[in-house]
Amino acid sequence: TAVESALSSVADGLGLPSKYGHYINGQFVEPANGQYFDNISPIDGQPFIQAARGTKADVDAAVLAANTAYRTTWSKVSVTERSNMLLKIADLLEENLERLATIECVDNGKALRETKAADIPLSIDHFRYFAGVIRAEEGAASEIDANTLSLSIQEPLGVVGQIIPWNFPILMAAWKLAPALAAGNCVVLKPAEQTPTSIMAVMELLSTVLPPGVVNVVSGFGGEAGEALATNKGIAKLGFTGSTATGKNILHAAAESLIPTTLELGGKSPSLFFSSVLDKDDDFLDKAVEGAVLFALNQGEVCTCQSRLLVQEDIYERFMEKVVARTEAIKTGDPLDEATMMGAQVSSAQHEKIVNYINLGTSEGAKVLTGGAANDVVNGGYYIKPTILSGTNDMKIFQEEIFGPVTSVTTFRDEEEAVAIANDTVYGLGAGVWTRDAHQAYTVPRQIQAGRVWVNCYHAYPAHAPFGGYKQSGSGRETHKMMLNHYRQTKNMLVSY
Ligand code: NAD
Repeated sequence: TAVESALSSVADGLGLPSKYGHYINGQFVEPANGQYFDNISPIDGQPFIQAARGTKADVDAAVLAANTAYRTTWSKVSVTERSNMLLKIADLLEENLERLATIECVDNGKALRETKAADIPLSIDHFRYFAGVIRAEEGAASEIDANTLSLSIQEPLGVVGQIIPWNFPILMAAWKLAPALAAGNCVVLKPAEQTPTSIMAVMELLSTVLPPGVVNVVSGFGGEAGEALATNKGIAKLGFTGSTATGKNILHAAAESLIPTTLELGGKSPSLFFSSVLDKDDDFLDKAVEGAVLFALNQGEVCTCQSRLLVQEDIYERFMEKVVARTEAIKTGDPLDEATMMGAQVSSAQHEKIVNYINLGTSEGAKVLTGGAANDVVNGGYYIKPTILSGTNDMKIFQEEIFGPVTSVTTFRDEEEAVAIANDTVYGLGAGVWTRDAHQAYTVPRQIQAGRVWVNCYHAYPAHAPFGGYKQSGSGRETHKMMLNHYRQTKNMLVSY
């Protein structure tokens, strides 16, 4: 039973039910085993709604609904109609931006101002981008000989399974759903157990646009609903975003049925600050300092979060003084207060993990430049102060993903050493390069093993730029039209005449 909390009234004001079933075949349905679990809000550590606890039976029902919808309806819908539906979904998200953003904050603990400015607008744009891209797609025709024509056509895969994490619930769903639907697939999606609610609020909107069964959502735990989806024989592809450890399990499951996977996994992304950053006291320097402080964006719960700051040794003291001062000006606290820049960590487990890492860092010999383990727990919520630790790249805090508002800083002598430290990690998701030197701005990124290198900026995610990981940060790309190729297959017809 949901415990009364200050947030219950927020939830009531948002018109949320006391519990959500699974969303299967266009309807919210009871879980097969009748079980629900509490969805705790990180704002006060209290349950504010319940979610259905999915099992294999629910996943089977969702895959069956998706398969039926694919055969009977969705595969007959024209590209133009699909595109129009995606545009309609984008409009509905836009009309409901304020409400969805608030639900997302209560669910996840993230700051409302960020969610309104970034998460939901980026989700909307994703649907619009793929609605446009799919209309512009062309097949290929070529002549083999005087009597034979080769026609290559892109066909959907059928029913795809998608598993997403809790750090950007609506945005991660948009990143997965928009290309899968644009390419003509039906979907069974499993949200993270920490944040099942905002997705269901989105499903209420989608139910007014899409035929039943085209998108289905089964909520629940990774080891239950997640595994049941990853091992289901009725799906033609798995799209996964989450930790590297789980990604390896997903790949094993997919190998059993030989289905393609895309994996968007963890990171330990470096940002390199070269001496020239401090050449002048101007807007560029301010931008670089702001860029460094983005390590705490979304409470540091971003896969590309620059969790390693590498600073050229001759500017280290002066640059870090500015970064520390700017970090200490971040307003933390109640995510629903629009002055708040950084809200609560997603769960008590995540909060504990982050505090443990800060303690591990100091026991490894790292120095706390700001923040630290003596962190706030306000009104039962899971708050942490943005923390910067200085040390060396061989420490665990430099090598393991913390996934909180904690970054580790070290120095480098020259370009060669900077690149060597940047690449000394099993991950390869994001990186940042900050320099006024135009030559360096092109040559250093080419040497960094990462799928996305921001140069003199950080944390921008336009729909039309490809995103994904090198090394153990994943395989395949998300966003960008190349994503369509992960959700379809090529049919070649050789036509003799
Ligand atoms: P996680 O791997 O524990 O969980 C992610 C999802 O997988 C959840 O829905 C979970 O229920 C499910 N899951 C867990 N075990 C499973 C199993 N055995 N079979 C099937 N599904 C299972 O990840 P997390 O800790 O909740 O999320 C944070 C991680 O996600 C971080 O490592 C972060 O870097 C990564 N992430 C990556 C990207 C990216 O684009 N590369 C984006 C966001 C988050």
